[in-house]
Amino acid sequence: MKFAGRNMRVLLVEDDQMIAQGLQTALRQEGYTVDCTRDGNSAAAALQAERFDLVLLDLGLPGRDGLDVLRGLRRRADATPVLILTARDELPDRVAGLDAGADDYIVKPFDLDEVTARMRSVLRRAAGRGDPCMQHRGIRLDPVTHSVECDGTPVLLSAHEFAVLEALLQRPGAVLSRAQLEDRLYGWGEEVESNAVEVYIHGLRRKLGADAIRTLRGVGYFIPA
Ligand code: CA
Repeated sequence: MKFAGRNMRVLLVEDDQMIAQGLQTALRQEGYTVDCTRDGNSAAAALQAERFDLVLLDLGLPGRDGLDVLRGLRRRADATPVLILTARDELPDRVAGLDAGADDYIVKPFDLDEVTARMRSVLRRAAGRGDPCMQHRGIRLDPVTHSVECDGTPVLLSAHEFAVLEALLQRPGAVLSRAQLEDRLYGWGEEVESNAVEVYIHGLRRKLGADAIRTLRGVGYFIPA
């Protein structure tokens, strides 16, 4: 797994199956977690229900079009970075997309290296919007450099442990169920080992202290507020 996409969760909205499959495979190889939808309505629903680090959004979609999905996202003041995918002859769409709040665009047919370069650039800019570090009770997590410190001492976490900790640190005190954590770790349809989350929680407690993460029996896990 390469560094670039480690733990980044991407929603790919593309109705062209060949493009979607090619992109999905390539991005997974880069370490991104990729979920795919083929139409605007399910894209909008996914964006309401879950959190993504980046959206790759085709504009010409069946049902609700990409532009409409993007406008809905920005109306909710959701700043999730969005890269729109357009065809070479769709200049007005590209302009409309940027005006509607897209962060950048990619012209089809595209080179995969260009896609990943633009994704990194958009993610860097998004990270620069403020101090992205999360700090809570002696734990400091930097999502840009993927580093964690506990009481000032660097702690080495696996990619999955990092993702679990990041999810829990986003809202200290809030309980996340095993299923919610699995959603953060794996794409749709990916094989999930039944006790994977427990293993990561165990690893985090060993590295950060037994009390760093609490269990609410039968409900899930939380970081004490
Ligand atoms: Ca399309």
